[in-house]
Amino acid sequence: MSNIRFEALKMAFEHKTAAVDVPEGKVKDYFAQDVFTREKMKEYIAQEVLDQLFDDVDNGRTIHRDIAGVVAIGIRKWAMDHGATHFTHWFQPLTGGTAEKHDAFFTLKNGTLIEEFSGDSLYQQEPDASSFPSGGIRNTFEARGYSAWDPSSPVFLIGDTLCIPTVFVAYTGEALDYKTPLIRSTAALCHAAREVCGYFDKQVKHVHTNLGWEQEYFLVDESLYNARPDLMLTGRTLMGHNSAKSQQLEDHYFGAIPARVLAFMRELEYEALKAGIPVRTRHNEVAPNQFEMAPIFEEVNLSNDHNLLVMSIMERVAEKHHFRVLLHEKPYAGVNGSGKHCNWSMQTNTGVNLLAPGKNPYQNLQFITFLVNVLMAVHRHNGLLKASIVSATNEHRLGANEAPPAIISVFLGKQITAVLDKLEHAKAEEAIIINAKKEMKLGVANIPEILLDNTDRNRTSPFAFTGNRFEFRAVGSSANCGAAMLALNAAVAEQLSLFKEEVDARIENGEAKERVLFDVIKKYIVACKAIRFDGNGYSDEWKDEAAKRGLDCEQSVPYVIDRYLSNRSINMFERTGVLTRAELHSRCEVKWETYVKKLQIESRVMGDLVENHVLPAAKRYQTMLLQNVLAVKQVFPADETASLNAMDYSIIKQIEDHSGAILEGVEAMTEARHKANRQPDERSKAIAYHDTVLPLMASIREHADALELIVDDELWTLPKYRELMFIH
Ligand code: ADP
Ligand code: MG
Repeated sequence: MSNIRFEALKMAFEHKTAAVDVPEGKVKDYFAQDVFTREKMKEYIAQEVLDQLFDDVDNGRTIHRDIAGVVAIGIRKWAMDHGATHFTHWFQPLTGGTAEKHDAFFTLKNGTLIEEFSGDSLYQQEPDASSFPSGGIRNTFEARGYSAWDPSSPVFLIGDTLCIPTVFVAYTGEALDYKTPLIRSTAALCHAAREVCGYFDKQVKHVHTNLGWEQEYFLVDESLYNARPDLMLTGRTLMGHNSAKSQQLEDHYFGAIPARVLAFMRELEYEALKAGIPVRTRHNEVAPNQFEMAPIFEEVNLSNDHNLLVMSIMERVAEKHHFRVLLHEKPYAGVNGSGKHCNWSMQTNTGVNLLAPGKNPYQNLQFITFLVNVLMAVHRHNGLLKASIVSATNEHRLGANEAPPAIISVFLGKQITAVLDKLEHAKAEEAIIINAKKEMKLGVANIPEILLDNTDRNRTSPFAFTGNRFEFRAVGSSANCGAAMLALNAAVAEQLSLFKEEVDARIENGEAKERVLFDVIKKYIVACKAIRFDGNGYSDEWKDEAAKRGLDCEQSVPYVIDRYLSNRSINMFERTGVLTRAELHSRCEVKWETYVKKLQIESRVMGDLVENHVLPAAKRYQTMLLQNVLAVKQVFPADETASLNAMDYSIIKQIEDHSGAILEGVEAMTEARHKANRQPDERSKAIAYHDTVLPLMASIREHADALELIVDDELWTLPKYRELMFIH
């Protein structure tokens, strides 16, 4: 009898390191080769058109259709010169991932084939996208949404297809994607931050947001993946006993990268670099077969496009190497999950990083101003920020031992904490000395530069200051970073406006600017103290402490999603123009619906696995044991059989117990699912799935994993953890 696991193993062992075709030359010879960069545009588009285009893009203005028409001709020419035959609007629906609909570059006019790609095709498309989730904004009768060109992110080629980054909106104007509100949030933050910069430097005309993501992922051999229906259909293992050796020796982390993986990475990097993604770092992560890649940070909208693009390039390249990429946050229980740390900062057009300590007291006051306002924003919206990163998949990672806890707090480190403590207790007279030359001196002027090599890095914090940026670590590996980034941008934009209002009002009353800035910052330091936590975020004491501090401690995803709809969140999003009330409601509907669908699929797959894999293997083994018991009885004298059969009896009994528990569990789970499906709305369904289906899945798993340990290895049909995690 054949066993699919052994066939898969045999194939996996035959997968050898693939040859990679990466050119010898320097990276700069092929970097952005597949991107229509500003530099290349000059070859294809008239300079005066480009001047207008770049000016509009850089100042966030809408591109005129006439300009688009001319640009489209240039784009088509470049794309066809590079072998493109098709084009697609490339957008980011709320389902996650990216969506494309390919059209050919030709059209028929009077029966003749002509090559065409008009300004209109560049500008706007109407994908028949009625089945993308809209959370009720578009019902299927009015299924009209359109995708519109985002000229701030360059077009690029994937194979023979020209990809045009676009926003995806309903005809009535509501955003149906992540990109639209992300762009709105950068505009809001730019405006608010520029205003505050005005206190320090009148030259600042523009503030943009930077994102540097760190993408973690697992690789698994393709044959083994194909032999695990749960990996294929849900992205994670729904069962599997821990491997005797997993990550405890920490020998994988930063260890030598296995040859077959290295070949994959080299090709992945080559493809990413050609697509203009400045990937720079690669290394093993903590868990076996877990890896990370990170680029140099870029403007957040572009960086996010690049992250989404990298995720799809990864999947494509992996297949060539007979690997599958697991982007799920928790593919395996018992070992580390995968996150996507989002390194976030604000930078002025004058080149100043607003979250980096400066060289003089004035710059440091500016730094402290922005730092403290971020703390205030994260404090005020800690529940919302958590909502921005939760999902059915990230739920398994958050709060597990190695992941950021499900409570948002900020780690600042010793030095910054000392600076804030000093400021908090300083008298204005001590802290600010304005000398004869009208220069201001801050009592805390000397913020040491060693901050940049800060080794004081707390790994348990979901939101950490790391020297010149904040690192939002709770974001999940499969997520669109946009969700988290737009919430953070909007929250900080709101906070900076509130700050500005307060400071301006007092300056108008005749108080000195420096003094007011100092006073308000001092007040803020006290007001948002509850969000600061440098201790062990995994400890139970922290949970109690966080609750006492009034931080959001909700863990259940369906309830966390509610945070989008609190008055505080809605006011903030409306005030900053990032999302309307209707858009927020529709987003939550989509989130609950997605949550339900994912759990529903998982639960069904679980039922299949136990009934078609686990129980049959257990039964077969039990039958073997029973036959053995009978044989012993035939061969040995009656008074000896009991002791000879004792071990078999015990195992037979254990199999019976676990199998019985599994069958009961499956029945209860199916019933719970049916009941959950009958709930009147998506939110109630999601709550029911969370509260009733999820725990039953966990208990079924426990029994299945126990059986895996008991049943003869030769009969077990699902590739085991040690095989999934250690074969490469
Ligand atoms: P870590 O030690 O946190 O794992 P990595 O080198 O893996 O660091 O990744 C750090 C990420 O932070 C990179 O994507 C890097 O470009 C980004 N980064 C560095 N400085 C900034 C900044 N000022 N703003 C935003 N991102 C930044
Ligand atoms: Mg890293």
